Amino acid sequence: MILATDKILSSPKVNLLGLTEVKLREYICSLGEKPFRAKQIMKWIHHCGIADFALMTDLSKPLRQTLTEVAEVRAPEIVSQQDSKDGTRKWVLRVNGGSCVETVYIPEKGRGTLCVSSQVGCSLDCSFCYTGKQGFQRDLTAAEIIGQVWLATQSFDGFRPRLKEASAQNRRQRNASNESSQSSMKETESISRVSNVVMMGMGEPLLNFDNVVDAMNLMMDDNAYGLSKRRVTLSTSGVVPMLDKLGAVSDCSLAISLHAPNDELRSQLVPINKKYPIAMLLESSLRYIAGLSDSKRVITIEYTLIDRVNDSLALAHELADLLKEVPCKINLIPFNPFSLSDYKRPSRNRIKAFQRVLNEAGFIAPVRTTRGDDIDAACGQLVGQVADRTRRSERYQRASGTD
Ligand code: SAH
Ligand code: SF4
Repeated sequence: MILATDKILSSPKVNLLGLTEVKLREYICSLGEKPFRAKQIMKWIHHCGIADFALMTDLSKPLRQTLTEVAEVRAPEIVSQQDSKDGTRKWVLRVNGGSCVETVYIPEKGRGTLCVSSQVGCSLDCSFCYTGKQGFQRDLTAAEIIGQVWLATQSFDGFRPRLKEASAQNRRQRNASNESSQSSMKETESISRVSNVVMMGMGEPLLNFDNVVDAMNLMMDDNAYGLSKRRVTLSTSGVVPMLDKLGAVSDCSLAISLHAPNDELRSQLVPINKKYPIAMLLESSLRYIAGLSDSKRVITIEYTLIDRVNDSLALAHELADLLKEVPCKINLIPFNPFSLSDYKRPSRNRIKAFQRVLNEAGFIAPVRTTRGDDIDAACGQLVGQVADRTRRSERYQRASGTD
């Protein structure tokens, strides 16, 4: 026993923040403890926001002591937090190794959506995406991914009180304030709580498969954040083999970044389309939703509208035709400009005309209004601070004549 602990002591501390229940149970058993301790620890971490093992009062003192020596609960470090005038909140977070990623909270009618990053940079280089222009550095760990939810929950005071006595009292207070916030919600229709998570921050989540699946598992686990599978969405540019694999292990909602109705145009915008063309991607997406336990779910199609590139009426008709057999909703995202791109956002009239074609063909196709413009928090504007191994941003800067 002493020898085993010595061995653990000589290795770096294990971060329990990103461990799923199964992995935490294995770890706890490796310390010679009973498996049920895992649930207790998870609740302290994800329900109560407690990182200090000494405060986990239903664990035995020796276990608290051992955990303090060999383990930790560590989220990324907050470098900055900015609030937009529209209620959007953006964090720049430093992860191990010094790079930064960004996380964005978007309050909407009756819900609060957290847009979570999965990688430092992105290797896929879509032509309209700032993250892609920065190249790729590394995958985030499961702790760094779920850590974004942990920090956001903390920032909105969303953790439960930890002491039983305080708990009852606070529950009463919370119920009272929920009642009043619900009545005021009818007026303002916005909340300050993470009710939904979208894997739409920096990076391609399916290229960091295991860590993203573990983190989403925690988002949906009742011993952690308990979000319903409808409220956790993975967005992908179309890594087909991994999407097929996802169906076997997850029930999350699915968003596909399509952006064009034919392969010629899509391959220019989303280079991974050359490897996994549209027909393959749609087939795989249909397999994914057919495999879900709940038959009512639809695929979210994301379509970033770029002026004179993919926003013509002919393309709108082609899109409607392509998707006529696909149970989906189409999110129209007006392009968000950034310095390294010559693309422009279409006029309101062009956006409306594109939307009208889709609506007339029977699709629900909301235009996603740009949020957090004043703090650069919109889709495709997330920058972080990527120590780019591919030196891609330098190449773009040279090509576009900027420094
Ligand atoms: N890699 C994943 C998830 C992150 S990107 C994916 O591509 O789906 C999240 C969404 O932001 C995608 O739909 C992407 O196409 C969109 N996006 C990227 N850059 C954008 C920009 N400049 N303007 C508007 N939307 C953008
Ligand atoms: Fe990567 Fe998504 Fe940006 Fe494409 S749109 S470069 S896949 S983050």
